[in-house]
Parts: sequence; structure tokens; C-alpha cells
Amino acid sequence: MLKSIGCGEVRAEHAGAQVTLAGWVHRRRDHGGLIFLDLRDSTGLVQVVAFPEDAGFATAESVRSEYVVQVQGEVARRKEGTENADLPTGEIEVRVASLRVLNEAETPPFPVNQDTEVAESTRLRYRYLDLRRERMQRNIRLRHRVVHLIRNFMSSRDFIEVETPVLGLATPEGARDYLVPSRVHPGSFYALPQSPQQWKQLLMVAGVDRYFQIARCYRDEDLRADRQPEFTQLDLEMAFVEQEDILRLTEDLYQHLAAEVGGFTVPAEFPRLTYAECMERFGSDKPDLRYGMEITDLTNDVRGTEFQVFTRVIEDGGRIRAIAVQGGADISRRGLDALTEVARENGASGLVWVQFTGEGPLDGITADDIKTPVSRFFSPEDLAGLGAACGAKRGDLLLIAAGADAMTSRVLDVLRRQLAEERGLADPDTLSFLFVTEFPMFEYDEDHERWSAVHHLFTSPFTDDLGIVESDPGAVRSHAYDLVCNGQEVASGSIRIHSRDVQMSVLRALGLSMDEAMLKFGHMLEAFTYGAPPHGGIAPGIDRTVALFARERDIREVIAFPKTKTASDLLMGAPAAVTAEQLKEVHVDLNAAAREHLAKQASEDEVEA
Ligand code: ASP
Repeated sequence: MLKSIGCGEVRAEHAGAQVTLAGWVHRRRDHGGLIFLDLRDSTGLVQVVAFPEDAGFATAESVRSEYVVQVQGEVARRKEGTENADLPTGEIEVRVASLRVLNEAETPPFPVNQDTEVAESTRLRYRYLDLRRERMQRNIRLRHRVVHLIRNFMSSRDFIEVETPVLGLATPEGARDYLVPSRVHPGSFYALPQSPQQWKQLLMVAGVDRYFQIARCYRDEDLRADRQPEFTQLDLEMAFVEQEDILRLTEDLYQHLAAEVGGFTVPAEFPRLTYAECMERFGSDKPDLRYGMEITDLTNDVRGTEFQVFTRVIEDGGRIRAIAVQGGADISRRGLDALTEVARENGASGLVWVQFTGEGPLDGITADDIKTPVSRFFSPEDLAGLGAACGAKRGDLLLIAAGADAMTSRVLDVLRRQLAEERGLADPDTLSFLFVTEFPMFEYDEDHERWSAVHHLFTSPFTDDLGIVESDPGAVRSHAYDLVCNGQEVASGSIRIHSRDVQMSVLRALGLSMDEAMLKFGHMLEAFTYGAPPHGGIAPGIDRTVALFARERDIREVIAFPKTKTASDLLMGAPAAVTAEQLKEVHVDLNAAAREHLAKQASEDEVEA
């Protein structure tokens, strides 16, 4: 080794010892004839000092930030009053006996030794420098720790890790596939797995019983902010289980991770809410339970009132739903207009607000203490009644949306989250886990005019609903469940179909003919006829999980080499054109549009150069 100890490992007990250190120059300070270097390696920072009479002094004067150096010297206690309590090595420094430059460094495009804002594209273009920064070092080390804890936990519960192919046949997880052309089978393509779904189910048929894998998944989606074309799941599957077994295992795992990582409050038991209940109470299937503002149905309270906007909606089969915002009576008119605009953007024709000023309960509140644009249609008692139904007091605000369930859910969910954010209601030290269960099996896809699976087509419908899978798909409940935390989906899973007949029925409900079913899923249908055990599983997202524990919002902060929102790798320059020879080998011809695009790109690159 070029070093005898890590920079961050030197302590007062080493005083008097000779050490050899190697690392990067984090910072250099000239103190008139005295030079201090903060030296950094993966273990941390240590202060190195060179006096003019030291052999390494001239070199110390010449080094700059991010030079790689080797220092040999004696550990000495720092003078009293110059210790740095913020650093584990703050009691000591290393007096230079010799200093050797192992490699020079250009001035980095952004400071590595500070947590400054740097443009995303610059960070990704020079990711190896970005990763040197403290925050990223912390995050990738935390990621390693979390994955390590997961592997040990799964092993301790008798799961075995099995690797499944990356070159395979498409799995219907709902996204577009990444395709890989085959050289030896002209015109045929592999698909990169959207998840190891089919492989893990086949492992259950194979008698593995308890499988897991830290698996990379690939989905060619139009990228939203928090999506990556490739991401990592803890993929797991168990045979001979029911839904509650999977939920309990997942709950145990996350309790264990939270306890080991530390610093967070998690619920002693993760609540289990049905999809219907979540939509009713929070307007969302991934509610943030760290704060209240639950939705109340006011339809019956306003039925028969003068306000035609409400009565007409009710006649049309819609509902009147509201949230109470604690302390919201102080929101300005402009603030209320902005909230109304948010409601409009999400499909509402308007938003009715009622502010109850003053303090105390709503009983006996007079018109003077109620601000609302609908005062003409409701008496103060009526309004107080609506407020009380939502749990409001004086000082609070009522936001009321009227219309179809899907729209009012969306509007009130967005408002609830926005207000919680603006008013700082979500405790950053709480991880509010819950399970959402009983997802509908199918949803109608308006664009393609057919039913599609909400989770995926291997999910088991409720036994009670098997009779209506094909006749009334919209009413079929499924054994699909999500683990949700702080308003985000962390894991999805389901109890699977293990009967060929049920699988065929689901495929028919999705509009597949017998021929198509055999072509795409014949191998699964066949496997089910050879004694497939009842089975189920779940797949927590590793990136999302680590981001939660790292208190990062964006999963890119916990991925060593993430891609941009347009799925580009700015460091390596992928995706990129390949040679004509390579295309020929895999029997691929570019069409005119692709050739044009490449030509345009080449000329742009030339201009830049
Ligand atoms: N394969 C599923 C997914 O990636 C997870 C599961 O059902 O276990 O969403």
C-alpha cells in the first residue's frame, strides 16, 4: 500500500508515530511561511502541516486542489486552542517529513471541497469529480450499506439470491422495452427485462420457494423527473404464501433497515389501507400520512341548498368533497387565487373556499368572521356545519371541490400536498410507511380502447371476483399491494395467478386472442400445468429506498452514474451511433429519419468542436 493509514483514521493516540498518507489535496492554506494541507481520502480528512525548514515545503507550496499526493511524517497533537471539534482527526496534525506528488490535477470545473450548487449537466459530465464530494460519498456508501443489510436480512430469512437473464423476452410491466438485436438470429431481438417477473415465477414452479435478487430493471418510458431508464429493485418471491405473509416480511425488512440506519421515526405497525379507502380519504393511492387534511364528503350536507354549482354536480352523479387547512384563514386573497388556479389546472371548474377567522370552535360564528365568495348561498350556520364536518375550527380554511370522483381526488390530493409543503407540515425525520391493498385488477385505457392490468397481468384477482373477470373487468379487485412512504410508492407486488385457466381468462379480458396468448405467454401457461404452487412477491425500489434514508428527493443523488431526463449518459456519451459494420452484423438498417438525425448531430458536434 502507498499509505499506512487512512487520512480520516489518524487520532490523538497516534501522536509521535510515523505515518504515510496518500490522497487528494482538499484545501491548501498559506499562513505566511507555514503551509497547511487538508488531505482527503475515502476515510476522511486530516490536516498536514509543512514548515519552511521541512524537506517537503517547496512541494507543499506548489500543490493545488485535487493533486494526488503522498505524505510521510509524524503525528503531533495540535496546539491547544487550534483543535477542530468538527473533524474526527481534529485533535492532531501530521508534520511533513516528505511530500511526493503522485499526480497533478487540472482545476476542477466545480469545487470538490464545497457543497455548492452545480448545474446538473456539469455534475453528470464530470460524475467522477461529483462523486468525490462529501454528499455523494455519503450517499453511495449508504447505498452499499442498505444493500448489504438487505442481502443479510433476506439470507437470514432463508431466501436465496438467484440471478436471472438480462437478455430475455419482454415482460409486460406496462412500459416500452429496450431491444437488443440478435446477430445469430437475423431479425430477432432480445428485450431487456422490465423486471424479472416471469423468471421469478418460474423459479417458484421450480421449487425454489424463497427467491430474491438485487435486480436491474429497464423501462423505455418517457422520463419523468424521478424515473431512470434503468433502476434497481429488490425483487423477491415466495411460494405457499398469502398476501399478509409478504406484507409482514416487507414490514420487518423496513423496520430493520430503519433501525440500522437510525435517525428516523417509523410506525410500530405499518397501516394497511385499501385502495378505495386511500382514494376516499386522501384522493391518492400513495398518500403522505405525516399530516392530516383528510378529505371529507360533504355531498349530503349540501344537497338541496341554493348553490346550483353544487346541486347540479350532485344531479350529474358527482360529489362535493373538501379538506380543512389548519390555520388557513391567514392565506391571502392572492394565495387563494393561486390555489384555485391549481384546482383548474387539474380539471376543476373552480374551487370554493371558506375562511373562518378568529379563534375557538365554530359554534355561533357570525357572518363577520366568515370570508367566502359563496356567502349569498349559505347561512353562517350552514357554513359552520360544513366546517365542523371537516374538523375545522376558527382560524382554518375549507377548500371544496365539486365533480366526478377522479377529478376531485386529483385536485384535493394536489392541494393537500402543496399546502403541506408550503406550510412545512411534513416531519422530515418521519418515514410514514403504509401498505395500500385491494387495487383494482383492470383499468380502462382510453387511448387504446381496451382494458389493461393495473399492476400486471400475472396478478391474482380476488377469488370472489373470478366470475366477472371477462364480463365486468372494471369491478374486479386484485391481490396487488404497494408499500408507500411519505407520498411515494416504494414497492409494488401481488399474489400471482398459478392456474392456467385463470391466467387465460385474464389474458382474454385484456383482449388477447388464444394465438397471441400462446405466442407471448405460452411458456408461463405451460409451466402452470406442471404443478405451480400458490405464490406471490413484491419488488421494493432500491434507489427510492436509499433516497428516503439519505433524505434525498431525487433518486439520481443515490445512483453512481445516472442518466439525464432524456436517458443520456453525459459522461460516456451513450447512446451513440455505431459503425456501419456493427449494424450490418446485427442485420439492422437505419431508416431515413434516423440517418437524418445522425447527420444533424454530427454537424452540430463539428460546430461545437
Ligand atoms: N414485477 C413487479 C414490478 O416490477 C413487482 C412484483 O409484482 O413483484 O412492478
